[in-house]
Amino acid sequence: MDIQSSLKKLPSVEAVLENDRLREFITPLSRRGVIRIIRENIDHHRKLILRGDGSPAGKNDLFARIVEDTVRSLEEVSDLRQKRVINATGVILHTNLGRALMGEEACAAVREAASGYVDLEMDMSSGQRVNRMRRVIRLLTLLTGAEDALVVNNNAAAVFLAVNTYARKGRVAISRGELVEIGGSFRLPEILSAAAGEVLEIGTTNRTHLEDYARALDEGASLLLKVHTSNYRVVGFTNQVSLKELVELGKSRQVPVIYDQGSGIIYPYASAGIEGEEDIQSLLETGVDMLSFSADKVLGSAQAGILLGGSTPIARLRSNHLSRVLRVDKLSLAALEQVLIHYWRGEFDRLPVWRMMTADIDSLRIRAEHLADRLRSGLGKEGKISVVAGEGSIGGGSFPINPLPSMLIRINLSAGMAEKLSLLLRRSKPAILVRIKGDSLYLDLRTVDEDDVKLIQDGLEEGLRILLGGSDLNG
Ligand SMILES: *Cc1c(COP(=O)(O)O)cnc(C)c1O
Repeated sequence: MDIQSSLKKLPSVEAVLENDRLREFITPLSRRGVIRIIRENIDHHRKLILRGDGSPAGKNDLFARIVEDTVRSLEEVSDLRQKRVINATGVILHTNLGRALMGEEACAAVREAASGYVDLEMDMSSGQRVNRMRRVIRLLTLLTGAEDALVVNNNAAAVFLAVNTYARKGRVAISRGELVEIGGSFRLPEILSAAAGEVLEIGTTNRTHLEDYARALDEGASLLLKVHTSNYRVVGFTNQVSLKELVELGKSRQVPVIYDQGSGIIYPYASAGIEGEEDIQSLLETGVDMLSFSADKVLGSAQAGILLGGSTPIARLRSNHLSRVLRVDKLSLAALEQVLIHYWRGEFDRLPVWRMMTADIDSLRIRAEHLADRLRSGLGKEGKISVVAGEGSIGGGSFPINPLPSMLIRINLSAGMAEKLSLLLRRSKPAILVRIKGDSLYLDLRTVDEDDVKLIQDGLEEGLRILLGGSDLNG
């Protein structure tokens, strides 16, 4: 059939709109969008025809197909919410999966603040308006020893606000070895040039010396910025100036020093066998004017950026009008307050992130073997499912060079099958995310709630049945 006569079979938008099957989707506010979706589907089929790609031959077939596609698109939009994912990757702060999980109490606090009125900005004794951050400021300063604190939307906003406050019309100096990109959308060079009058890039990628900073000060730098390189390390012939040295230089020249710590820790995790990060208290003790970090990465709270430091610099940030633009909402504050209360009370076991980080290897092995056994008996197959030593990671740019030793379930498959099984798992409900390496699938139960293990078993059994039919795992 020629293209012209195929194109003539395309229905009109009105014809599709009047079809009975679309009726339930048409509401006062959806009508315009429904029409747009119909048009998208007709256009899609027009393109297929023009490309000579098998669009249904008969006019009625084509109409039915377009109605079918439209209904599917409409169902999708009617349920366009974030969907639950079972994270079997062992990456605790998985940015693409929403980073930190919060415990029961923090979730309850969020719920209470969301569904009712709260004393967000009112002192109930005086009836006066007060700072919405007063509670987190008190908790943060008591926990860390900082004089003052400020909370904004996220850590990118915290860095932006600090740089903008001190170098809006001036110059911010930063080592070329620290001009990093973190997690795709945080590109430091872009953020700095948007926030500051001028960015003075100093040193080289692998080596920056104190004299480089001193020269930047001679050139009029109004702010010295140091950035934790998070998920990236320069190794070999390197030199970076320590925070302590930089703070001394800044003090001697009366120019503030700000440290973007990003991740890092509040609790001394070293005592729990997790090393490789400096804790925030020690960093503050260097006398740094301010430091910033992500509340979700460091505390296991909802998304927020936290600035800690001296009362004068923090007050200056607070009076920058942009602090209103970057303001944190009541839900994040409700979460953060409860999470900080847990730290204050020493209730680390109420923090899911903490429980995952400190899960001991023996209990992980037992959990892994348990699931492996059930999978073997469920599938009636031996040998291809094993429990092996491996590594998980904290993620979120934290602890990059200190992976977490873990015990993984390994499912060995024939060539190409691992990708296919992983796709089936991602599409199951709830979605299950695993790791793939070579022809094997790996599951780390460190990041999986015990209640979800059965769902993983069901998902894997179903996926393997689809992929392998009745055949043996050896394929
Ligand atoms: C993660 C990170 C950021 C970005 O923080 P967000 O809270 O995601 O905005 C900035 N700097 C460093 C060093 C980081 O690790």
